[in-house]
Amino acid sequence: MIYLQTMRIATPCAIAKGEFNVYYQPRFDVRTLTPVSAEALVRWIPEPRLTPGAFIPEMERNGSIAELTALVMDTVCTDLRHLHSKLGFYPKISVNISPALFRDPSAVPRLAGIVALNGIKSSMIEMEITEGYVAIDVEAVIAAARRFSEAGFEIALDDFGTGMSSLHYLDVMPVSTIKIDRHFISGVGSRTTCDHIVSSMVRLARETGVMSVAEGVETIEQLKYIAGLGCDEAQGFLLARPMPFDDYLNFNLRYPQARQEEDQAQSRILLPQGY
Ligand code: C2E
Ligand code: CA
Ligand code: CA
Repeated sequence: MIYLQTMRIATPCAIAKGEFNVYYQPRFDVRTLTPVSAEALVRWIPEPRLTPGAFIPEMERNGSIAELTALVMDTVCTDLRHLHSKLGFYPKISVNISPALFRDPSAVPRLAGIVALNGIKSSMIEMEITEGYVAIDVEAVIAAARRFSEAGFEIALDDFGTGMSSLHYLDVMPVSTIKIDRHFISGVGSRTTCDHIVSSMVRLARETGVMSVAEGVETIEQLKYIAGLGCDEAQGFLLARPMPFDDYLNFNLRYPQARQEEDQAQSRILLPQGY
C-alpha cells in the first residue's frame, strides 16, 4: 500500500525530472535473420528493478500515462532522426499505446503532432495496441485505432491471442501486424496446444494479409518452429534484448552487408558477435 502510494506520487515527478528513458528491442526478419524494426520500451532509469509491468498500470490509474507516452513518442522521433543520419534509412519503430489513453480524445492529435513537429512520417511508426491492465471500452479502442490509422500510423495487435477481443479487433480494425503473445511461443515444442495455436495464428495472419511477429523467442527450437510455419518476424532474448539507444544504433551499424544481401539470403544466421 505504501509502495503504491509512493509510486502514485513518484511517477509524475519522475517524468518532470527526466528519469524515464527508452530502450529498443530489435525485431528480425525470420527468413534472413536481419533486424527490420524495433519496439520502444520505456525504462525508469534510477529504478531499474521496477519494470514497466509494475509502474505502467499505476500510471494508467493516476493519469500520467498520457505524459509518459508523449515523452516516449518524442524520444522515439529524436532517435529516428539520429538513426536516419547515421544509417541513411528509417527503421520502423513500434510504440506501446495504453488502452487507458483511448478515452482521451486529445491523445491521437497530440501524438500525431509530436511526430509531425519532428519531421517524421507517421507511417514510420507502428502503434502496438493491447487490451492492457485496465477495464476497457472495446468500441473506444476500435475508434482510437481507426483515428491512429487515419493519421498515418500502422497498427499492431500486441499480445495477440490473450485478450477477449483479439479476433474482433482483427476483423474491424485497420491492422497491419499481429504479435503472437510470448505465452504461446514459450509453449512451442512442449505443449501441442501451443504448437497448434501458433501455427493457426501464423496461417490466420497470412490469410488475412497481415504480418505475423512471434514475441518472446528464447530458443533455437522456437525460432526453427516459427520459421517452418512461415512466420514473418521474431522478437526475443535469443536474438536481442532491449538495449539503450546507443547500443541499438551500433547494433544496426553492424548489419549493412546483411541488409544489402537481404534479398538473396535464404536461411543464413547473421547474428553479430555478443548478441
Ligand atoms: P510488451 O509490449 O509485451 O513488451 C514485451 C516485453 O517482453 C518487454 O518487457 C520485453 O523486455 C519482454 N521480452 C522480450 N523478449 C523476451 C523474451 O524472449 N523473454 C522474456 N521473458 N521477455 C521478453 P518490458 O520492457 O518489461 O515491458 C513489459 C510491458 O510493459 C510491455 O509488454 C508493455 O505492455 C508495457 N510497456 C513497456 N513500455 C511501454 C511504454 O512505453 N508504454 C506503454 N503504454 N506500455 C509499455
Ligand atoms: Ca508491445
Ligand atoms: Ca507483447
